Amino acid sequence: MNDAARVLPPSLSLAGRVALVTGASRGIGRAVAEVLAARGAAVAVGYAAREDAAREVCDAIEHAGGRGVPVAIDVSDAGSVEAGIARCVSELGGLHILVNNAGISIDALLLRASEEDFRRILEVNLEGAFRCCKAAARHLLRAKADGRIVNVSSVVGEQGNVGQAMYAASKAGLIGLTKALAREFAGRGVTVNAVAPGFIETDMTADAIRGDRRDALLEQIPLGRIGTPADVAEAVAYLAAPAAAYVTGHVLRVNGGLLI
Ligand code: NAP
Repeated sequence: MNDAARVLPPSLSLAGRVALVTGASRGIGRAVAEVLAARGAAVAVGYAAREDAAREVCDAIEHAGGRGVPVAIDVSDAGSVEAGIARCVSELGGLHILVNNAGISIDALLLRASEEDFRRILEVNLEGAFRCCKAAARHLLRAKADGRIVNVSSVVGEQGNVGQAMYAASKAGLIGLTKALAREFAGRGVTVNAVAPGFIETDMTADAIRGDRRDALLEQIPLGRIGTPADVAEAVAYLAAPAAAYVTGHVLRVNGGLLI
């Protein structure tokens, strides 16, 4: 365990827990993996294609005194999900915390949107989380009151956005999945929550928050800044911690006041 984790109050400590973060090779997922490791969890750093980037995240985790292992998980492929979760359990000794972060966005006005793009978005953002929950379920249920699922939804899933009907549908679906599983798993003490980030500075939003668009966006955000991956990671770490044992079926907004 790293030094920071050693001094945490027990209510925030993740010592002895194993976490899997999908899509942790960059962006929000990377920050989540690093914060969970800093709180004492051993972390499986999920990646779809960028093994080098996932290894770099693990190196950063180990450098800070934590434990991280790269695990290939393409959430759109059931076989890859099964194999990745099996690897996480065999290498790290169990699975207590599943963070369904992997996601893509394909933006288009409805008249230009294709069925193929819609299927792809659902396959990754919504079916991917469903698949991971299903494959991880018996391990999480075995973890009882230490078991956690945190789904990464979006402000767009709550309020919609022009040009993002496909993405919004996938992220609203994740909220439904969260609430249903919260009820289903509650009897075993396992909690299921979602975070709904606003605009966070990552590769995904690089085009949307460039130049003039950035100023227009900032005017809509009461806290006056674009969010960082660390802002979201802190919220996920709270939901994963013992401190949040009585919070389930909740959607925690991390959006600077963009939607209140
Ligand atoms: P990002 O920088 O584009 O990173 C996306 C991550 O997802 C990468 O690690 C990528 O892996 C992984 N990924 C993509 N397809 C995958 C698949 N089929 N299987 C497994 N992993 C896959 O995105 P981000 O901004 O960090 O977003 C992370 C999550 O937050 C997404 O669910 C996104 O919808 C949500 N979100 C983001 C914002 C925002 O403003 N950025 C706001 C609200 C919600 P590779 O590197 O291997 O390709």
